[in-house]
Amino acid sequence: MSPKQTEAAAADPYFPNNGDHRYRTHRYELTLDYRPGPNRLAGTARITAIAGRAPLREFALDLAAFRIGRVLVDGRPGHYTHRGGKLRIKPAKAPAAGAAFTVEVHWSGNPKPVRSPWGGLGWEELTDGALVASQPVGAPSWYPCNDRPSDKASYHLSVTTPSPYTVVTGGRLLTRTTRASSTTWVYDQPAPTASYLVGLSVGPYRGVPLARPGPGSVAQTGWVPARLQGRFEHDFARQPQMMALFEELFGPYPFTEYAVVVADEELDVPVEAQGLATFGTNHVDGARGSERLIAHELAHQWFGNSVTIGGWPDIWLNEGFAKYAEWLWSEHSGGPSAQRKAETAYRKLLALPQNIRIGDPGRSLMFDDRVYERGGLTVHALRTALGDPVFFRMVRDWATSRRHSVVTTAEFAAHLARYGGHAADGLLDAWIGRHRLPPLPLAARATPL
Ligand SMILES: [Zn+2]
Repeated sequence: MSPKQTEAAAADPYFPNNGDHRYRTHRYELTLDYRPGPNRLAGTARITAIAGRAPLREFALDLAAFRIGRVLVDGRPGHYTHRGGKLRIKPAKAPAAGAAFTVEVHWSGNPKPVRSPWGGLGWEELTDGALVASQPVGAPSWYPCNDRPSDKASYHLSVTTPSPYTVVTGGRLLTRTTRASSTTWVYDQPAPTASYLVGLSVGPYRGVPLARPGPGSVAQTGWVPARLQGRFEHDFARQPQMMALFEELFGPYPFTEYAVVVADEELDVPVEAQGLATFGTNHVDGARGSERLIAHELAHQWFGNSVTIGGWPDIWLNEGFAKYAEWLWSEHSGGPSAQRKAETAYRKLLALPQNIRIGDPGRSLMFDDRVYERGGLTVHALRTALGDPVFFRMVRDWATSRRHSVVTTAEFAAHLARYGGHAADGLLDAWIGRHRLPPLPLAARATPL
C-alpha cells in the first residue's frame, strides 16, 4: 500500500478526515499569544513526533483556516499546502522509518469553532474571554495537531494574554510572569493526552481551592467569576468526597491536579478535558442541582482521559462508565441507589426507539442520550451479573492496568471475560451490540456502597 492508502485504511470511521496514522506525536510545545478583545491568536507549535513504518515523505497536521507563517521540519523549511483543515507537509528531507523528528508551525488569525452536527466545537469566544471544548474534533480550531484520539502526547503550554485575565488549562502551572500589561502562564501536562482533551479557558476568573495537595489528596481548584464564588463553594463542596470515592473504586486519580472552570456563559453541557472540566453558569445554582454532572466529569478523568478510546465508535466506554459513576455517587452519598437509577434509565429507554447499537452508534448518534443511559445500564448489568466484589475488582483493574493508554471495546470484552467468563461476554454483546433492550438487570447481589 502507498502511504496515502495506509492513512485512509486506518482512519476513524466517523471522522476519516482527521488525524494521520503515518506518524505519532510525542510532545507538543505550544506558545500562544491571545488577545480577547479582537479574539486574535498567534501561536508557535513545536511538535516532537516519530515516523511510522515508512519514510515520511509527506504527512499532515489538522489545522483550521489560519494564516501560516512558516513550517519547519527538523529545522528546515518544508513545502506545505493548507486547505480543508489539513496542513500537508513535505519535509525537505524525509524522516526515516521509526525516526524521531520535529515540526514547527507558526500560525495566526481569529480562532472560531469548527462546525459540526452538534454545533460549534473547539475554540469559542465568550463575552469576556474564551474557552475550548473540542470533543470530538474541535482541537484544530486553535492549534495544529494529529487529531486522532489514539495519538496521545505530553503538552507544554505557554499562553500570554492581558494581565486581568486568568489562563486555565489541565496540568501543573509552572510559572506566571507579568511584563508590562501582559501575563504569561506556563503549564505542563506530562501525562499522555489526546488532542481533543487539551482544554483551555481565558477569563476574569478567581481561584477557589477545593482541596489542597497533600498525602492522599489531589489538588483541586475552581476558577469562577467572582460573583458566583458562594454558590460554587456550596455546589462543588462534595467534589473532594467524590474524588475519594472514585480513587477507592477506580484506582488512583490519573493526573497530578484537577481544575474546574465555571465559564461566565451558559453551556448546554459541561465538558471534560485532561485534568480539567468546564461548566457553565447554569450548572451552578447554589442548590447542587448539577451534582451528578460534577461526578460525571470527574469520572471521565479515568474513563476517556486516562483510559482513552482509540476510535469514536467505542464512545460508550467513555460515557457508559461516566454515567454509571453518577449512579455510584448517588448511591454512596445517600441519594437513590444505582438500582433505582438503572430502573429510571430503563423506563426512559423503553419509551424510545430501540434502533441503536451503542457499541457503534454511528457518527450522528454518538452523543445520543441512549448511548449514555444504555451505557450506564450496561455497566450496571455487569455489576449485577458479576456481584460487587468481582465487578469492582474488574473495573479497578481495567482503569489501573490501562492507565494512560488507548483501548478498544474488544480489549474491554477480553478483560471482562477474565472476570465473568463467557456469560459476561454474551451479556456485554446483548447490551452494546444489539438493538433490542435486554431485560432490566436486577440487583440481587448489588449491595449499596
Ligand atoms: Zn460524558
